[in-house]
Amino acid sequence: MDCLFCKIISGEVPAEVVREGERTLAFRDINPQAPVHVLVVPKDHHPNFAALSADPEVLAELAAEAGRVAEDEGVAESGYRVIFNTGAGAGQTVFHVHAHVLGGRGLNWPPG
Ligand code: IMP
Repeated sequence: MDCLFCKIISGEVPAEVVREGERTLAFRDINPQAPVHVLVVPKDHHPNFAALSADPEVLAELAAEAGRVAEDEGVAESGYRVIFNTGAGAGQTVFHVHAHVLGGRGLNWPPG
């Protein structure tokens, strides 16, 4: 399968990894939209959030790791956002599910 994030997980494509869990990896987004912009992905390939929700254990680890990223990056107190773009219509471009962890600046609501 030709999946960019599977290649990052295998080490075939380089990335700036900030955390590694048993079943998840967290690395910096190559095109950051905020001072803190980290992607947290499951090591197993799931195309989107709906598919990931069928694996509650890895979903729980992913959620915990997103929270730890926010703490490590110093945005847990100031506030941060965890986003799963789901489907091309919502801006998903890489079809290996990933949580965006965004922080370090004001975040407007509703999002664009
Ligand atoms: P999506 O648009 O929600 O699917 O998010 C995909 C994200 O992957 C975007 O924010 C991209 O900037 C990011 N991205 C694309 N290629 C790479 C890469 O090679 N390393 C890290 N992040 C990437």
